[in-house]
Amino acid sequence: MRTQVCIIGGGPSGLLLSQLLHRRGIESVILERQTRDYVLGRIRAGVLEQGLLRLMDEAGVGGRMRREGFEHAGTLIAYGEEMFRIDFVEHTGTPVMVYGQTEVTRDLYEAREAAGGIIEFEVEGVAIHDADRDAPYVTWRQGGAEKRIDCDFVAGCDGFHGVSRRSIPEDARREYEKVYPFGWLGILSETPPVNHELIYANSPRGFALCSMRNENLSRYYVQCSAHDKVENWSDDEFWAELKRRIPGHVAEGLVTGPSIEKSIAPLRSFVTEPMRWGRLFLCGDAAHIVPPTGAKGLNTAASDVHYLFSGLTQFYELNDAEGLDLYSERALARIWKAERFSWWFSQLMHRFEDQTEFDRKMQIAEMELLRSSEAAQKAMAENYVGLPY
Ligand SMILES: Cc1cc2nc3c(=O)[nH]c(=O)nc-3n(C[C@H](O)[C@H](O)[C@H](O)COP(=O)(O)OP(=O)(O)OC[C@H]3O[C@@H](n4cnc5c(N)ncnc54)[C@H](O)[C@@H]3O)c2cc1C
Repeated sequence: MRTQVCIIGGGPSGLLLSQLLHRRGIESVILERQTRDYVLGRIRAGVLEQGLLRLMDEAGVGGRMRREGFEHAGTLIAYGEEMFRIDFVEHTGTPVMVYGQTEVTRDLYEAREAAGGIIEFEVEGVAIHDADRDAPYVTWRQGGAEKRIDCDFVAGCDGFHGVSRRSIPEDARREYEKVYPFGWLGILSETPPVNHELIYANSPRGFALCSMRNENLSRYYVQCSAHDKVENWSDDEFWAELKRRIPGHVAEGLVTGPSIEKSIAPLRSFVTEPMRWGRLFLCGDAAHIVPPTGAKGLNTAASDVHYLFSGLTQFYELNDAEGLDLYSERALARIWKAERFSWWFSQLMHRFEDQTEFDRKMQIAEMELLRSSEAAQKAMAENYVGLPY
């Protein structure tokens, strides 16, 4: 087999890149370790920035998202019984869109399939060869057979645990990491959301988030120990804990019901530099992770796709490698700002076991600043709706 761009990973990064390339007549093949249903069943991000919306439109898959997604003009921040709102549209002129990652992925799979795009599922033992030379190739096993594809470029879109980042020699990359001493226990329930906008809550018992996917599908999270297990939490225990962490008048309106999904996500900040090694380009979670507090995971993946897509089209259409040469620098400049925002918002909203009284006072002072200062709200809003690219 031969293609122009071999994409490892059929998550949102890989699918979006493949679909965008297809629209410009550039061939790609996607190699995905899991089945299609498995990928579609993963409940993850749900808040999309304008940049991702534009890319979905450009990829020709924005229709359902524009019809069924929910525009959010602001968000609520609660601490104890206090609550205030940050108006994104007032401060930036821009809303965000609530539309689940599962739906983004489904729209992209359907578009790739309709266009006859090649996606190889259940691949094992993917290995990248000669990425530092002119003729890279990728090998894998599938159904007992050994397979190989030759290509011009490899896009490593295979997430944090993928093979792409580890294919770059250790002495050619540098990793930066912060692991937070807690996780998020999340549930999905077929109940109406407690509020039409997200509520981020800092309470003495820890962080909570009231989020949603649509009018009858709610997503709620509570901060939990990094070592906690889903089995330790019945639905009733989850709802009781959530109610203790949000203002009383909000808790009164909370509609509870059976969870249809329950999981714990660890919180981590991580960046690897550079995001390019020869003809291998890392994209999305393969290169960086943010704690989900700032809703930046999927959105930073999208900005990487934008820079890589631009570089590849410049290369194929204009025979100019400048965009590819600048890919890592351009992508990382934006990534570090999203990392900063996600880290800052996580520091502000969570309880840390080793937090001193002084740290706590700083958190409250920061919260008061955010509540009372137009400038602080504008800075928060600019980052939340997504920095331009
Ligand atoms: C539990 C969880 C909850 C999250 N919640 C949020 C949230 O609320 N908000 C938010 O903004 N972000 C959230 N994120 C982050 C967001 O989902 C990711 O940033 C986004 O999925 C990144 O997309 P990606 O395509 O780069 O990587 P992924 O979605 O991880 O896709 C990578 C794909 O590569 C495949 N793969 C891996 N290894 C190989 C291999 N060796 N060979 C072939 N294929 C391989 C995987 O099966 C996967 O399909 C969450 C992430 C997790 C894990």
